[in-house]
Amino acid sequence: MASIFTKIVNGEIPCYKIAESEECFAFLDINPLARGHALVIPKKETDYIFDLDDDLYHTLFDFAKKVGKATESVIPCKRIGMIVFGLDVPHAHIHLIPINKPSEMSFSSPRVELTPKEFMDIAGEISRAFKKMYPGG
Ligand code: 5GP
Repeated sequence: MASIFTKIVNGEIPCYKIAESEECFAFLDINPLARGHALVIPKKETDYIFDLDDDLYHTLFDFAKKVGKATESVIPCKRIGMIVFGLDVPHAHIHLIPINKPSEMSFSSPRVELTPKEFMDIAGEISRAFKKMYPGG
C-alpha cells in the first residue's frame, strides 16, 4: 500500500506544499515542532534513507538545503535544524526545523498549534522565497 507521503505527492491527501522538483517534494509537517517545520522527501517511495541510491540521496539533500535556505530567509530563527529520524511513516523524510533553542529539536517537546490559515501563509511564504531563490527548481 502507498505510504501517506506517496499519497501526498500524488495529490490524494492534501498538504501545505512548499516546493517540488522532478524527484523530491517538500511540505509542512502537520504536527510541527516550530513554525516552518517542513518535511523533505524523495517522490520515489523508499522506507529507509540509506537505501536510496547515491544519486537520489545526494539530490534529496541538495533539495533539502534549498528548502532550508528558503525557510531561514522568511522564518525568524537562529538556524535550521535537520533530522532524519522517525519510525512512524515508512517513507524516507528529512525534518527541517527552524530553531531558536535546543528543545525545538526534541520530538518530546509540545507541538506548535497552527490554524489552517497560518499553515497556508507559512507554506506560501517559504514557497515564494524558494521560487525567488531557485527559479530553476
Ligand atoms: P516520523 O516518522 O518522523 O516519526 O513521523 C513522521 C512525521 O510526519 C511526523 O512529524 C508527523 O507529524 C508527520 N506527518 C505524519 N502524517 C502526516 C500527514 O498526513 N501530513 C503531514 N503534512 N505530515 C504528516
